[in-house]
Amino acid sequence: MSRKEEKRKRRERMIEENGLIFLDGVSKVYSAGAPALNGITLHINRGEFVFIVGDSGSGKSTLIKLLLRELTATSGKVWVMGHDIANLPRRKIPKFRRNLGIVFQDFRLLKDRNVYENVAFAQRIIEVPVKEIRRNVPSILATVGLAGKYKAKPKQLSGGEQQRVALARALINKPSILLADEPTGNLDPKNSWEIMMLLDEINAAGTTVIVVTHNREIVNAMQKRVVTMKKGVIVSDEEEGEYIDED
Ligand code: ADP
Ligand code: MG
Repeated sequence: MSRKEEKRKRRERMIEENGLIFLDGVSKVYSAGAPALNGITLHINRGEFVFIVGDSGSGKSTLIKLLLRELTATSGKVWVMGHDIANLPRRKIPKFRRNLGIVFQDFRLLKDRNVYENVAFAQRIIEVPVKEIRRNVPSILATVGLAGKYKAKPKQLSGGEQQRVALARALINKPSILLADEPTGNLDPKNSWEIMMLLDEINAAGTTVIVVTHNREIVNAMQKRVVTMKKGVIVSDEEEGEYIDED
């Protein structure tokens, strides 16, 4: 067996034993204050749909940033897809990040580019041939319910439509894991539901989905795993859980 093959096998074994995502006693301290995360242990398996809920400041976004390796843990280990990501050499980070799609509350679209360009951009970065991009963009836009809006600029779209563009952009490179940090935070109830239903479909098609949210009604209705955070620790982790009222 080649060294490369051996490494791949080791990663596979790690995933089987500990999940696609494994935080092992992870703390993150930004500065002198209280730690943003304080000794978190969390396993997420391939194909799961997980809500992360908790008060503002409880460490949810910090957790997402650690998974993306935008931040590194102060102590403990973060394993993603069998990689101890603190040990990823800098040059390997872009390739690692292709496995992760990310959506934010504020959409983060390129304002001077149209819908097609916003989505195609994600493929240009990784040098997908133009011919393939021309095939892939319409297909992913249809998936998110935006066929026929290619030429619109973000400001000509509703919030719900803008979030669909962001979702298409996050998905076009076929990530194994989709992270969404308060994706419905700027949306009305109808659009919030539509985005969550799309996330559910994406999950049903095989992508592991992690959603940070404050949307109590949706969390309670969807009957997914719910991880609740408070002051940097996980205070509950329930299958088919509910949004827990804190104090
Ligand atoms: P949440 O997403 O749950 O609202 P965050 O992960 O954003 O929480 O923040 C957790 C804690 O870390 C908060 O106390 C916040 O003020 C602090 N924090 C977040 N980002 C930074 C930063 N870049 N520098 C210093 N403190 C930060
Ligand atoms: Mg946050």
